[in-house]
Amino acid sequence: MIRTRFAPSPTGYLHIGGVRTALFSWAYARKNNGVFVLRIEDTDLERSTPESVKAIMDGMHWVGLDYDEGPFYQTQRFDRYKEVIQQLLESGHAYRCYCSKEELEAMRAEQEAKGEKPRYDRRWRPEEGKTLPAIPADVEPVIRFRTPLDGTVAWDDAVKGRIEFSNTELDDLIIARPDGSPTYNFCVVVDDWDMQITHVIRGDDHVNNTPRQINILKALNAPLPVYGHLPMILNEDGQKMSKRRDAVSVVDYADKGILPEALLNYLARLGWGHGDDEFFDMKQFVEWFSLEAVSASASRFNQEKFLWLNAQHIKAADNSRLAALIAPRLAAAGVDTTTGPAIEEVIALVKERVQDLNALALEVDYFYQKREAAAADVEKHLAGDAVARMGRFADKLAALDSWTAASIHELFKPFCAEEGIKMGQLGMPLRVLVCGTTQTPSVDAVLALIGKEEVLRRLRA
Ligand code: GLU
Repeated sequence: MIRTRFAPSPTGYLHIGGVRTALFSWAYARKNNGVFVLRIEDTDLERSTPESVKAIMDGMHWVGLDYDEGPFYQTQRFDRYKEVIQQLLESGHAYRCYCSKEELEAMRAEQEAKGEKPRYDRRWRPEEGKTLPAIPADVEPVIRFRTPLDGTVAWDDAVKGRIEFSNTELDDLIIARPDGSPTYNFCVVVDDWDMQITHVIRGDDHVNNTPRQINILKALNAPLPVYGHLPMILNEDGQKMSKRRDAVSVVDYADKGILPEALLNYLARLGWGHGDDEFFDMKQFVEWFSLEAVSASASRFNQEKFLWLNAQHIKAADNSRLAALIAPRLAAAGVDTTTGPAIEEVIALVKERVQDLNALALEVDYFYQKREAAAADVEKHLAGDAVARMGRFADKLAALDSWTAASIHELFKPFCAEEGIKMGQLGMPLRVLVCGTTQTPSVDAVLALIGKEEVLRRLRA
């Protein structure tokens, strides 16, 4: 049984890099009829906040990544971590270290003076025949993991291929602080073990933690999961995405009028591919997904491509769903859609023209109330006898029995011939007078939707 997990630390917003990690973990579980676990890594009590937990849960809900188990909270598992620390102490894989802060600082200064890489010198590590220092009365010990002194730690990374570390590069890391609280790398290990995670799919900022975690798992005689480290997402300039420069939080994307399925579709394409396929849904993605097809190098966020995809998803989306999504935006803009054409029909007509929901909301106002026309448009399209001519066209409209795009369209050619004008000389003034803008879909369809009475009222006005 395949079991994967997403294990965010609740220290801020839900980052889109995190969403991509969650997406790939989720997809791997779904593809293999496995289990996807959500785990909140909140052991950093100073930086973890309930608001951030909520942001993560809301974000997961918004994108629609469902989990089968959890959320598990590390802060609720301290007894278990303590139990495993005790186990490691008893088996000799961990030991107490009574170095004071001052001692550690002195150690560091000395090593740096000698041009050495600063590291714990293992003075409290028990060895056969070694005499340990006398236990000081005023120091609460930390617990350190007894890292093997030689040999290597290696794994076949499902994304990056073989990765190898020499144990000489690794410290005897602290697994419990003086107050007994367990540290990050240790909790991850115990959790992945207890939760029977078979595939650890996470960002490649964790590659350096992996050899440490593997050593601890081995000391516990725990099975090793498969590791797959996902490369970073860079911004268009090839820099690490930052909150200051880039939209990084899931909420930013919701605010920008991005559809969740478009975000997932785009994130799926970042660092993974299935031929030239660009537009697909998550069902299709799960079918296609494999870790082997994940790229080992970082990928760049391409804004243009992303918005293009969002536009495709808007086109494909159900109109009543889109209506519900833009309702708050319309309300905020004071557009009353309760009288006038059905909003779903308006959306059907204009949605091909937009790349995001904010733009969609902006496209619908003139169906409900005329916009204030720009002076330049009035000057350009309503000069000379254009206004009188529109009066004559209003008479033709008024005489129509059936009010459809087709019946309106049928008036155009004869009217233009009669007046000796081109279609643009009819369409543009009509748009300016009825809509207040020249940027509209086909004018017959627009007039049909706005309705006979309202079109005539606006034209006569
Ligand atoms: N909590 C870690 C993070 O948010 C992830 C740890 C892991 O996936 O192993 O970066």
